[in-house]
Amino acid sequence: MKRILRRSTLILILAIAFIGGLGFFSVELIMNAGDWANQPYNAHISGNGGLEQAGAIYDRYGAPLAQTVDGNRVYNENSSIRNSLLHTVGDNSLNISTAVQSKYRSQLTGYNLIWGLNMPQSLRASHDITLTVDADTCAAAYDVLASYGKKGACVVYNYKTGEVICSVSTPGYDPQDPPDITPENESEYDGVYLDNVLSSSYIPGSIFKLVTAAAAIENIPDIYDRTWECYGSEEIGGSDITCVESHGTINFEEAMAHSCNIVFAELAVELGSEKMTATAEKMGINATFVVDDVNTAKGHYDVSKADTNQLAWSGVGQYNDAVNPIQMAIICGAIANGGKSTAPTYIKSGTGDLMKLIGLNKGDSKQLLNPDTAQKLNDIMRYTITDYYGDDLFGNLSVCAKTGTGEVGEDHKPNAWMVGYSQDQDCPLAFACVVEDAGFGFEYAGPVAQAAMKQAAESLRTKG
Ligand SMILES: [Zn+2]
Repeated sequence: MKRILRRSTLILILAIAFIGGLGFFSVELIMNAGDWANQPYNAHISGNGGLEQAGAIYDRYGAPLAQTVDGNRVYNENSSIRNSLLHTVGDNSLNISTAVQSKYRSQLTGYNLIWGLNMPQSLRASHDITLTVDADTCAAAYDVLASYGKKGACVVYNYKTGEVICSVSTPGYDPQDPPDITPENESEYDGVYLDNVLSSSYIPGSIFKLVTAAAAIENIPDIYDRTWECYGSEEIGGSDITCVESHGTINFEEAMAHSCNIVFAELAVELGSEKMTATAEKMGINATFVVDDVNTAKGHYDVSKADTNQLAWSGVGQYNDAVNPIQMAIICGAIANGGKSTAPTYIKSGTGDLMKLIGLNKGDSKQLLNPDTAQKLNDIMRYTITDYYGDDLFGNLSVCAKTGTGEVGEDHKPNAWMVGYSQDQDCPLAFACVVEDAGFGFEYAGPVAQAAMKQAAESLRTKG
């Protein structure tokens, strides 16, 4: 009798464990099946990265960026457009994790628990996605950026609506003909799967003077009444801070327009690590921004262990400073927008559940700067263009900008940067462009920014 009781108890325990396990698996299946089916390692099941039943992806004006024709995934026929949008759209390999085809594969393929990936065509709703990007602007920016043969990124977004108009990253490859990357040849393809707009951060050089200038505007009451002397080099904290040239007697606005290192190094030391850090934090340098459901790479400002000379260098965007391209576009957009940032998005329209997913962060805005500080930064960034670079750089757009040349070290040329925005009501566009291992900011990043902004304005003004 005892033995029977023991056996029944054992069977009962096993039965409970079985039912429990079944229940657990069922819940997991319902919750995660879409993700499991859409994992890149399942892509072989149906070839074409499992995308042969996927909906089409269009740019903001309806140009097809990726679509399925006779069971094959076909990308835009124009090679500049195709290459420029690799990191935004993705390719069949699904190796670019932040691209739409990887991130939103369930939505594109219309995965469903009952039919799996094989829902009959007759039952399919439309699974197309329309992006906010303008293919022509992406191609224009990409052609200039790719001509350098360097790593880099360029992003342009509407700081009122959050719509990303242009997003390009190099190096890349043709999504219609993805390379077969093996351990033997992988060094040739270093960084191709990374979207540098979202996922990289770089030494900023002088574009970081926007942060130092904001700290100075808010903490030094007579900042506009002062002048400094620049002799091209000055000892601060035991070592020299060098400038691009000997600027002589210079005021605050001129120091920004001519990008004088001596003035901004002195300002960082006068402000001290606490005020510099507080301003960098408030502007979001050490934070991640959420773009759709991707967290952007954080920048870096940490002077907690810096000596006086290092604090001085941190004020001109050297030392261990780093910033991310879309983060800089967001900050520039906030300067244009009374200090308030607008969360960028790449998705204009799509299926209901996709829009629900994206909608989580839609309209996310932060007050990155006081309105008065934003206005003053606006004025000196505008002065930088009108006084120094000339106002015809961007066609008939009224642009405010700052360039940067981030020194990386002896083995590499500097990172070239240009960031800014247009003030025009019909083209409220902020931009950030960077070219790694290049040279002077204006010389390399300038032409990329010009190509992107001019085409973005033309497209917006002619097609809306
Ligand atoms: Zn100087």
